[in-house]
Amino acid sequence: MGKPTGFMDYKREAPRKKDPMARVKNWKEFQIVMPEQQLKRQGARCMDCGIPFCQAGTTMPGSNEIGCPVYNLIPEWNELVYRGKWKEALDRLHKTNNFPEFTGRVCPAPCEVSCTVAISDEPVTIKSIEYSIVEKGFKEGWIKPNPPKERTGKKVAVIGSGPAGLASAAQLNKAGHLVTVFEREDRPGGLLTYGIPDVKLAYKIVDRRITLLKEEGIVFQTNVEVGVDVTAEELDHEFDAIILATGATMPRDVDQEGRELTGIHYAMDFLTANTKSLLNSNHQDDDYISAKGKDVIVIGGGDTGADCITTSIRHGARSVTQFDINEQKQTIRHIQNPWPLFPNVYSEEDAHKEAKAVYGRDPRSYKLQTAKFVGNEKGELVGLETIEVNTTLEDGKKVRHPVSDSTKLWEADLVLLAVGFTGPERKLLEQMNIKQTNRQTIDAEYGRYQTNQAHVFAAGDNRRGQSLVVWAIHEGREAARECDRFLMGSSQLP
Ligand code: FAD
Repeated sequence: MGKPTGFMDYKREAPRKKDPMARVKNWKEFQIVMPEQQLKRQGARCMDCGIPFCQAGTTMPGSNEIGCPVYNLIPEWNELVYRGKWKEALDRLHKTNNFPEFTGRVCPAPCEVSCTVAISDEPVTIKSIEYSIVEKGFKEGWIKPNPPKERTGKKVAVIGSGPAGLASAAQLNKAGHLVTVFEREDRPGGLLTYGIPDVKLAYKIVDRRITLLKEEGIVFQTNVEVGVDVTAEELDHEFDAIILATGATMPRDVDQEGRELTGIHYAMDFLTANTKSLLNSNHQDDDYISAKGKDVIVIGGGDTGADCITTSIRHGARSVTQFDINEQKQTIRHIQNPWPLFPNVYSEEDAHKEAKAVYGRDPRSYKLQTAKFVGNEKGELVGLETIEVNTTLEDGKKVRHPVSDSTKLWEADLVLLAVGFTGPERKLLEQMNIKQTNRQTIDAEYGRYQTNQAHVFAAGDNRRGQSLVVWAIHEGREAARECDRFLMGSSQLP
């Protein structure tokens, strides 16, 4: 602990972000690095409690998984920041997390939810400290390519370049294997690049790390879809092992009357096209689905829906509304969970703050189910009908009960479907004879990651279902360790 009385002397200072009205005028990141003096004070708030729940990924009854999935050594770097030892803090941070610049920006920070200070006060601003350590590291030139001293001669193919693929590639390369990452998109990064909007995580940040990985010896082959441009058999022939890190982005549909009308799109089509056009031409190519001047309805109350709001506002949408089928979440904690579920689990998202600033109202409407889409004679969407639903839990399953006479018509000329994902794409898995679970995810045990094909390992969303960047990094690292063990008989990787 840097300062024994720090948690009593200093209050939490919230991470600063640019004003919503100013930031929606551009596509720049809006998080602001805190001044060093302020960060030192925040680091001093860490109690270095006997059991640092923040660093131990675990599950509390009735809550989400809490603690850091990559086991970041949080109390150690909090103290080092308090003492002004930034380079040492960076070394400790990189020990457990290959890409703190990604998690420092987009992680919902399960570590802060489990901070012991939060039992009686507000938690330590762990995420802001992580972000600042790594950004200082880049600014000072401390983060340099570090290629392995020796090569093993073994070759590994990583399919998919999202956080799981990148983490496993980085670790396997560190172990001395020759790693090639195959990515079907034109740019690497997976959802870091073509899912999470640039305003939350700019592509230049992803590219900065990819450049380092290339300098360390990892080969990236973009615009190559495994199963189409190169067969699984060809990979088997050329490589000693394969890591499947293909994500889980098969979209769930809203199969209601009028679904065929023009103006209804999957959220991912909207978000991906937007970022591509932004990066390729600053939107000059018009190769994206524009929300400009439109009444936009986002169906789905999760993070993907929030990203659609953020993007629609920047296009200049006339209005933005978001439907959530569930009730507004409450800050109710489970009786066995002593933590107050603060600050992020039930907090308002940046997107909602922006919508309130621009349109003067909260965009969210709860307990609504789409009954049908309404079109004009040209087959264009003009609105949709909803009914109100109450939800009960019966035998552990959610059951929806329509409320009578609750039909409502909403005007809309753009609807974005953000109702979740059904799992990984099956095509490649079938070609490779990879066994799937009854949830359609890849059947590979957590901690082992090996599929029914001994030389093929799976990590990230395609194994666990849509999750978080930090879990993808964790699984990528661990799958690399298991793959290394398979190739060499034992492994020094963590
Ligand atoms: P992905 O990131 O999905 O990467 C998979 C890659 O594999 C893709 O690039 C794909 O093109 C490639 N691929 C697939 N098949 C092939 C093939 N046959 N050949 C070659 N390449 C292939 N998490 C957070 O922690 N914070 C957030 O703020 C956040 N926001 C999100 C916003 C959106 C819109 C979405 C959809 C998700 C968000 N998530 C967020 C979740 C997070 O992005 C994912 O959990 C994480 O990216 C999963 O990483 P992954 O490497 O398993 O897969």
